[in-house]
This record gives sequence, C-alpha cells and structure tokens, in this order.
Amino acid sequence: MNGVPAEVAGREPVVVTAADARYGELVRGVNARYVGSPEAVYLVNSTTQVAEVVQAAVTRGKRLTVRSGGHCLEDFVFNPDVQVVLDLSEMNRVYFDAARGAFAVEPGATLIDVYELLDTAWGVAIPAGSFYSVGAGGHVAGGGFGFLSRMHGLAVDHLHAVEVVVVDAAGAVRTVVASREHDDPHRDLWWAHTGGGGGNFGVVTRYWFRSPGAVGQDPRSVLPRRPTDMLLSTVSLPWPEMTRQRFGRLLENFGAFHEKHKDPDSPYLAVTGGLVLTHRSGGPIRLDTQVDGGHPEADRLLEAYLAEILEGLGPVVRPRARRVPWLALVRQHARANSAQNDPTLRGDFKSALMRAGPPDHQINTFYRHLTRVDIDNPTITVSLAGFGGRINAVRPEATAFAHRDCSLALLWTVLWHDPADDGRYVDWNREFYGAVYAETGGVPVPNSVTDGCYINDPDADVADPRFNRSVTPWHELYYKDNYPGLRAAKARWDPRNVFRHRLSVQLP
Ligand SMILES: Cc1cc2nc3c(=O)[nH]c(=O)nc-3n(C[C@H](O)[C@H](O)[C@H](O)COP(=O)(O)OP(=O)(O)OC[C@H]3O[C@@H](n4cnc5c(N)ncnc54)[C@H](O)[C@@H]3O)c2cc1C
Repeated sequence: MNGVPAEVAGREPVVVTAADARYGELVRGVNARYVGSPEAVYLVNSTTQVAEVVQAAVTRGKRLTVRSGGHCLEDFVFNPDVQVVLDLSEMNRVYFDAARGAFAVEPGATLIDVYELLDTAWGVAIPAGSFYSVGAGGHVAGGGFGFLSRMHGLAVDHLHAVEVVVVDAAGAVRTVVASREHDDPHRDLWWAHTGGGGGNFGVVTRYWFRSPGAVGQDPRSVLPRRPTDMLLSTVSLPWPEMTRQRFGRLLENFGAFHEKHKDPDSPYLAVTGGLVLTHRSGGPIRLDTQVDGGHPEADRLLEAYLAEILEGLGPVVRPRARRVPWLALVRQHARANSAQNDPTLRGDFKSALMRAGPPDHQINTFYRHLTRVDIDNPTITVSLAGFGGRINAVRPEATAFAHRDCSLALLWTVLWHDPADDGRYVDWNREFYGAVYAETGGVPVPNSVTDGCYINDPDADVADPRFNRSVTPWHELYYKDNYPGLRAAKARWDPRNVFRHRLSVQLP
C-alpha cells in the first residue's frame, strides 16, 4: 500500500506562510507562469483536515483554491486573488477498499503512483493520462485519457464513487460520498465529477474505481488487467523532406484512419497512435504508436496501421518496432520528459476534439504556421492523439464528459523560459489556433468535423469574444448538452460559489 508515512498521517496540517522558505515552492503551478500570493498554504493529510480548512476559509470570507498535482493549464489555482491554498499533495494513498469493493485513490496521488501501486499489487490499471506527475485530483474530475483509453475508455468511465467536502447555502461544511448507483440520492455529485472538471463543486478527498459490470470482490477483477507489454513504433518524418503535398497526405491518412476506427467495435482498439506535428525549427514530425502486445495479432495490426498512415508518402525510414514491458514503458515516459520536467518552463496550451480528420483548409493552415520563418521555437507542437474506441461506447449524457463520438484529441503546446516572451508566445498560439478554426469563429465548435474542447486542457481564451467569435459559448465547447446538468449540480452542491475559477460552472 502506498502511503502517507505514519509520522505524517494524523499530524496537524502544515501551514506555510510567506516567511517560510518553502513558500515559493508551494504557491506556483507546474507552469511557471502561474504564481499566487496567498496568506497561507495548508498541507493537509485527511478529509477532516480538509473540512476544517475549508470551514475556516468560508467563515472568514477567504478566497480558497485547491491544488492536487499542480498541473492546471490555466491560473485556476495560483492567481493573485487567492488567499488560501489547500494543498492535497500529501493525501496520496492508493489502496483496495474491501467495504466498497473498489480501489480508493486519494487526490494527491500522481498518475505514476496510481499505475505503480495498482500494477505491483494487483496487476490492474485505470485508463488514465500518460503524464506521470499529473495529480488524480484535477485529472479524474475532467475525464482523464491516455494510451489505454481506446481499449478501456476514460478514467471516469471506471469511477465508482467520490468523496467530496462541500459547503451548503448557510456556509456549513460537510463531507458527502456520492456513487454511480442509480438509487444514490447524491448521484448528481458523482456525475458532476465524471468530466465536469476540478475546482467547481467542492474538494474531492477520495475517488473510488470499479468498472461498471465488474463482478465479485477480488481486487484483480474489478478493473482492467494491465497489458503485458506494448509494441512500440516511432517513425520520424524530417522537415526537409516534408513538402506541402506530403504533409497533406500524412494528415489526410491519419485523420481518415481514426475516423474509420473511432467506433467501440473497431478491430483496432489495441492501437493508439499519436502524430506530433513539430514546427520546422524543431525536430522531425513523429508518428508514435503503441499496440497492446497481448493482442494475438499485434504485429499485423501495427503493420496495417503504419501502411495506411504512410501510404502515398514515398520512401519513409521505419525503425523496427520494439516490445517493452508495460510498466517499464510508463516509467520511461515519466523519466524521459526532460522538457516538461524543467521547473522554470512557462507554457501555453489549447485543445480541440475532432469527430473527423482535419479538412484541407485546416491542413493548409497547419502547414503555413508550422513552416513560418518568423518564429523559431523547437518546443512548438500540435499533437493529434488517437481518440474514440471504447471512449465512444458511453452515451454522451451518461457521464459529464459529452464528447463520445470523437476520433482525435488535439493539443497545441508552446514552451519558453523568459517571462519577457509571454506575450509573444501567447499571441503565437492564439493566432495559429484561431486561423485553423477561422471558418467557425476561431474555435472548434461542435459540428460534423470538430467537437469542442477538453476541460482538462482548459483555455480561458474560448470565453473571450476577441478569440471566440462564434455564436457557441465556452461552456458548449467543453460540455455541450451536459452544461444544464452541471449547473443544477452546482446549485445543489456549491450554492455560494465557493469553488470557482475563470471557466467554472456558473450558478443557474
Ligand atoms: C504535462 C502535462 C501532461 C498532461 N497529460 C495529460 C494526459 O495524458 N491526459 C489527460 O487527460 N490530461 C493530461 N493533462 C491535463 C491534466 O489532466 C489536467 O491538467 C489536470 O486537471 C491536472 O490535475 P492536477 O491535480 O495535477 O492539477 P491541479 O493544478 O492541482 O488542479 C487542476 C484543477 O483541478 C482542481 N482540483 C485539483 N484537485 C482538486 C480536488 N481534490 N478537488 C476539487 N478540485 C480539484 C484545481 O483547483 C484546478 O482547478 C496533462 C497536463 C500537463 C500539464
């Protein structure tokens, strides 16, 4: 069992104020752009302590935010308005809760904690994100997807229950457990945490995972089994050989394959492909593919996939695929990401979900911007991740995550170090993204091609009329028809709007 060390469990909260040497460490997100100046940070280690800190903040009228893993892509946790930060990073236990027949995961557990613990002790996995240091606290509430999702759905598709510290209309704090059981009177609170996003309804102090339809109480049978190994392929496509025609063919092939195989009964569920479009000042464009090595036809699936994606591109060097034990691969991903591990990095991100591959005019815009010579930042990427599969087996209204007919998830990234470059790179991303979606007002509105944005990759620009010139409001991009349900949950569980940020669910 992972654990809060015995000397930590039960200890009083650690209160860190500006006079403390640890303060600077605890008032900033993983993205160095987001720094707060709260009166205090409370490092807590139990639900009772969370409730006490929230109650004190509400009683004193203090603005409070919650940090689990610190990976928020916006300033929702660390910004100048925040007076109290509740830091849950020490609440990181992962264990089997026999009473519920489900795995309990505390919000401060990082994804690598979760993968390692579930695997080492029980050989099971949750289909969550691929970045090791993301915290369960924010990640799960927003949906959670990664390399296992085409096979097993989103993390929230296995969410059985959630424990949340909430504040009622009178300002009194209480702790509620809400489950997906249909007769649970608190079911709407569970539902709100299946894609509604963090920082909206209360403080999650525990998640429980058990797959729908799981039978029995054996921990090894209540979640998907971990893959034995992964068949791994990386194909590099250098920019000097990348004509507009070749680039277009690659994106058309990639888009068409994923559209054809987005359904939950696709024979290619075991294949997860990612296409990382770099700027030409960076390295080559990369086609990264993982295939579940336990699939009896893994090699054939990979071969057929690569043949389809690379068709018509002319000669391409294809290094031999490698088999890597699954957990070793997860760990390697954790350690290899030197750029993302740099604590001085500043970044800007934008997301889009796609139902179909990018049409020609979008491909043109990708090519134009990625070959621009007035910018030379090798960290610029747009990654296109294969989506759908078992994610699309769930009805859009069954969970708060509404995007259940998508084929690709896109993420725009630009990183830099110098605060003086903030304006330049934020503008770059705005211009690039706005141009790709120019025909729909600068944002990927839900239609037959695009399907909005992913709340775990939030971008406050989509609520700003300068950048969202469509008639589609920001909440439709993130939640589509599920927004009224989320507002109803907000009214019931956070009627004083204690938990809020720049894109939080609004009270009715
Ligand atoms: C480098 C990187 C890689 C990523 N990779 C993936 C990926 O592979 N797949 C994917 O789906 N997403 C990915 N994400 C997005 C990630 O899922 C979100 O950023 C997620 O919200 C981070 O959660 P956190 O707890 O680490 O962040 P935090 O910054 O601590 O929290 C994020 C938000 O949730 C709120 N929150 C946090 N904890 C709680 C809680 N206990 N109760 C209530 N609200 C809470 C915060 O107040 C904030 O609004 C990635 C992000 C980064 C920066």
